[in-house]
Amino acid sequence: MENQEQRPAGCIVLVPCPFQGHINPMLNLGSILHSKGFSITIAHAKFNSPDPANHPDFTFLPIQDGLSNIKASSLNFISIIRAINDNIELHLPQNLSRMVTDSDQTLCIIYDALMYKAESVAKHLKIPSIIFETSTASLSLVYAQLPGLAADGFIPITESVANDMVPGLQPLRFKDLPIFNFPGYDDLFQLITSTTDIRSSSAIIWNTTECLEQASISKIHEHFQQVSCFAIGPFHKIIPSPSSSLLKENSHCITWLDKQEEKSVIYVSIGSVASMEGGELIEIAWGLANSQQPFLWVIRPGSVCNEEWISQLPENLKEAVSKERGYVVEWAPQREVLAHAAVGAFWSHCGWNSTIESISEGVPLICRPCFGDQRLNARYVSIVWRLGITLEDDKLERKEVEQAVRRLMVDEECEELRQRAKDMKKQIELCIGSNGTSHKSLNDLVAFLVSL
Ligand code: UDP
Repeated sequence: MENQEQRPAGCIVLVPCPFQGHINPMLNLGSILHSKGFSITIAHAKFNSPDPANHPDFTFLPIQDGLSNIKASSLNFISIIRAINDNIELHLPQNLSRMVTDSDQTLCIIYDALMYKAESVAKHLKIPSIIFETSTASLSLVYAQLPGLAADGFIPITESVANDMVPGLQPLRFKDLPIFNFPGYDDLFQLITSTTDIRSSSAIIWNTTECLEQASISKIHEHFQQVSCFAIGPFHKIIPSPSSSLLKENSHCITWLDKQEEKSVIYVSIGSVASMEGGELIEIAWGLANSQQPFLWVIRPGSVCNEEWISQLPENLKEAVSKERGYVVEWAPQREVLAHAAVGAFWSHCGWNSTIESISEGVPLICRPCFGDQRLNARYVSIVWRLGITLEDDKLERKEVEQAVRRLMVDEECEELRQRAKDMKKQIELCIGSNGTSHKSLNDLVAFLVSL
């Protein structure tokens, strides 16, 4: 009897993509499914491996990633993704075959859309698989339409159409698409079209909510009627889950935040991958210092392209830091920071995790997107949800930084933005509440998994 009660609802194998912005939501999804009674195995690359000690409820299955066989000079995002996929195809079947023969229960692979070879492994082992898109439903819609745009001659995107609306994807402009201005766009285009053929999957999961993306989710339903769609986010608000940070979080900044006035601090971070030129860092530093607002700034090691930047930081910024008007860390406990009463706005690169973490705490954004889905997310933040502003100029100047900070933190306009951000936070709370769409979608996902 006891054994029967402890028997898991099924075994789920999660295949994350080994970058911070992909690991976090995948492990959060693991915590959610674990709380629903599933046993969770994380099949992960050795590169950027999550720390098993932080997740005692999960089983970890390291897979060879083949990265040591690639010359350092040829390593880039796309070559890493391709190498890991090749190794997943090679090694995952062996790793899972035991589970397949031993298990008399539901067994399902949920894989990050970028870990696309997991799907062929699932087919080979005759087990079901589900795509997890770590970004928005709107991005999935863009990907679904890319082949059509290519057939209509829009790709590669030229500067002359950069500001035009993309047919069928308004309010996105061509320059908001991930393949705009991407060096080696051909490789990216190929990767996207090989990773995201939703048609071949039985289901797709997003870390989003209907109150943010109802229109895009409905369009995906229309396009791919045979695919079950589950928008169950924001994951981190559904159940508390341990940190899966690859860098050590500096929690002293929380003690510093405790001493600041409510909604007075601007939090600045560009996530785990983006970088900036030293010149831009200096302009941001001057802008922050001149804005006179307290700031908490994450300057991740390796995130500034020009080594000498530190010696060029303005004297009044150093003074601001030494007078405790500013605090600089290498990595922050971001979810805790955004939930802190002292934080009034977030200067962000608009990775999807940062964006949804900010929106779900009611914190308006200054968007400074760099690449990938970040321009799309920034467009939604500023034009659709109207929860922030986007700085689009190629070259950023200190005056612009100072003005943006004041617009979000001090000027009259900030009250409107704050009110909208507060309203959206409430709507998100309703979505994850017991009658909400994310709650219902999660129950549907659990029923779907059990039925497999
Ligand atoms: N993050 C963090 N501390 C930091 C900066 C970022 O914990 O100092 C986390 C953040 O909460 C988010 C993830 O790292 O969950 C970054 O993901 P996102 O999609 O925003 O951007 P990416 O790093 O993929 O560009």
